[in-house]
Amino acid sequence: MSLPDGVERRTFDGHERLATRGQPVYGEPTDGPWRLWDAGRSKLGAMLELDMDVELDGDDGVLYLGAASGTTVSHVADFAGPTYAVEFAPRPTRDLVEVAEDRPNLFPLLKDARKPETYAHVVESGLDAVVQDVATRGQARVAARNRQFLHDDGRLLAAIKARSEDVTADPDDVFEDVLATLRDAYEVLETARLDRYHDDHLAVVARPRT
Ligand code: SAM
Repeated sequence: MSLPDGVERRTFDGHERLATRGQPVYGEPTDGPWRLWDAGRSKLGAMLELDMDVELDGDDGVLYLGAASGTTVSHVADFAGPTYAVEFAPRPTRDLVEVAEDRPNLFPLLKDARKPETYAHVVESGLDAVVQDVATRGQARVAARNRQFLHDDGRLLAAIKARSEDVTADPDDVFEDVLATLRDAYEVLETARLDRYHDDHLAVVARPRT
């Protein structure tokens, strides 16, 4: 599967790894203007390493839900177009604001992803992708509520964390329930377990139902 424009495989310590061009954010190794995109610290990075067809491209407009202190969304902003980064915890958002200082296309928003009406006046609609990595109960509902920002052929790229839904349930049962709810708003195109990089996470690529 081809990588988005602006993402390359480069050699770090003798191994081919994903990389984007930008200022380092989390102590990752660099090679000239390139910095390693660590799939062990990024679910979207893991999706790319697993060759999932994420259909992201350089200059895409992206809404990123659950940005934390900016590890993954900084890589997205390195290759994408306008990148809106929603995070509801104030402390990581402070770091995120710093990450955005040298990325003019990255817009941090201290908002709750369950309440898109609180940022709908800031985030443009007709975006190419919603990337979701929110550690919260009701991950399918979060995705459904944020579908409004995507154009008809846009993509949801979600990492579903089983333990955020139910710490005691079998992850397979949790994923089945989440996918059933997700299918009300999206057509699911591809799924993959991310366990090689992230325990008990399911990656989902989906497009809005029209
Ligand atoms: N995506 C980040 C990365 O790869 O760099 C890591 C995200 S971390 C696993 C999950 C984040 O979701 C946390 O920072 C948490 O505060 C945030 N979160 C949980 N519920 C949220 C909500 N309802 N709205 C916004 N952020 C939320």
